[in-house]
Amino acid sequence: MTVTSASSMSNVGEDAQLLDTIERWTMRELKPIVREYDHADRYPAIVVEQMKELGLFGATVSEEYGGLGLPATTYSKMIMIISSVWMSVTGIINSHLMLALAIEKFGTPEQKAKWLPKMVSGEVRGGLALTEPDAGTDLQGIRMTARRDGSDYVINGTKTWITNGAEGSCFALLVKTDPQAQPRHKGMSLFIAPKQKGFTVGRKLEKLGYKSIDTAELVFEDYRIPADNLIGGVEGQGFYQATSGLELGRINVAARGVGIAEGALKLAADYAQTRRTFGKPICEHQAIQLKLGEMATRARAARLLVLDAAAAFDRGDRCDMEAGMAKYFASEAALENSIEGMRIHGAYGYSKEFDIERLYRDAPLTCIGEGTNEMQRIIISRQFINRNPAI
Ligand SMILES: Cc1cc2nc3c(=O)[nH]c(=O)nc-3n(C[C@H](O)[C@H](O)[C@H](O)COP(=O)(O)OP(=O)(O)OC[C@H]3O[C@@H](n4cnc5c(N)ncnc54)[C@H](O)[C@@H]3O)c2cc1C
Repeated sequence: MTVTSASSMSNVGEDAQLLDTIERWTMRELKPIVREYDHADRYPAIVVEQMKELGLFGATVSEEYGGLGLPATTYSKMIMIISSVWMSVTGIINSHLMLALAIEKFGTPEQKAKWLPKMVSGEVRGGLALTEPDAGTDLQGIRMTARRDGSDYVINGTKTWITNGAEGSCFALLVKTDPQAQPRHKGMSLFIAPKQKGFTVGRKLEKLGYKSIDTAELVFEDYRIPADNLIGGVEGQGFYQATSGLELGRINVAARGVGIAEGALKLAADYAQTRRTFGKPICEHQAIQLKLGEMATRARAARLLVLDAAAAFDRGDRCDMEAGMAKYFASEAALENSIEGMRIHGAYGYSKEFDIERLYRDAPLTCIGEGTNEMQRIIISRQFINRNPAI
């Protein structure tokens, strides 16, 4: 995807070939190991190396910087395929690509030349560090400060819930450069923050699901970086820069939701055709048919909403409402399909020897990440009213 225009979208045939490669890689390399890694909560370093070879750390970065330059539609389909088997590994690239997007979209020419090629190769990996212990949805309430000191900035504060926080080496760090500014967002800036003296990992957070990928608390104590690391070189733009990537971020999370919803449907449909009760496969009992019918419809509707939002994004249209709808619907579909899939498995849905329990633990994250579903409905409603003024 080009960040701003569809003119350099990659060729449709090439994208189909890439998706085919991703499908085969997912089935051959990810499926056999997912259960073991997930239960051990072990970081899949081997998968990271494979993703480097596939070029996935530059999936949405322009070809000019060595990336694949995928349009959002192709990228979403790729995320759907991987998430239908192992959602966690998509987080390793999604958050990283949000960091790269912020630099490509808003960075100075020097920042792009310095950081993007290393991010595309996966040599530098990271994510977005926005959330703090006291500020998630209300991002303008963050407390982390950056104080100018000669040609440097000195940063103090704590971030939490940061994906790739322990394994990553560089983050887009949202701070207050003017804590007194009103409105609050005018005092916010975004920095490229590599790990070095003054930047430590506080602790890795234990989670219900979304295992194998690290989510961490990051601590900054008199962390000193050159002013050259201020994205775009101008203070006060950080809130806009951080949130402008959210549309693509929401399409990404929505695509993960589709993957889980479709994965749960596949597991449930397979199980329902082999498990027999009262002399027939359970898929021939009407109660199970009603569930499968609803699951299949939800998964399909979610897929179409995501592709609709991705197409709007690729055209360069405003798509906050479309991305919000896709994110809200697809993540709720993931949650509902994983629960229904579990029910269809009976006792075996509760067993760690079957995959459906992982989807059930992974699904709720999609309702929280990149803006909670409560906020999505508010965004959808506001935008709907804006686009439909009463006459
Ligand atoms: C596994 C995981 C990975 C994450 N990765 C990252 C990451 O890489 N980088 C990062 O910066 N953050 C990350 N996050 C943080 C995530 O973005 C936040 O958790 C999310 O934005 C919600 O913030 P919060 O948890 O502080 O909830 P709060 O903001 O405290 O909200 C609590 C509840 O109140 C509701 N609520 C809040 N305000 C309103 C309102 N105005 N109207 C209606 N309802 C409202 C919310 O919807 C929610 O239900 C991650 C979180 C998780 C769980």
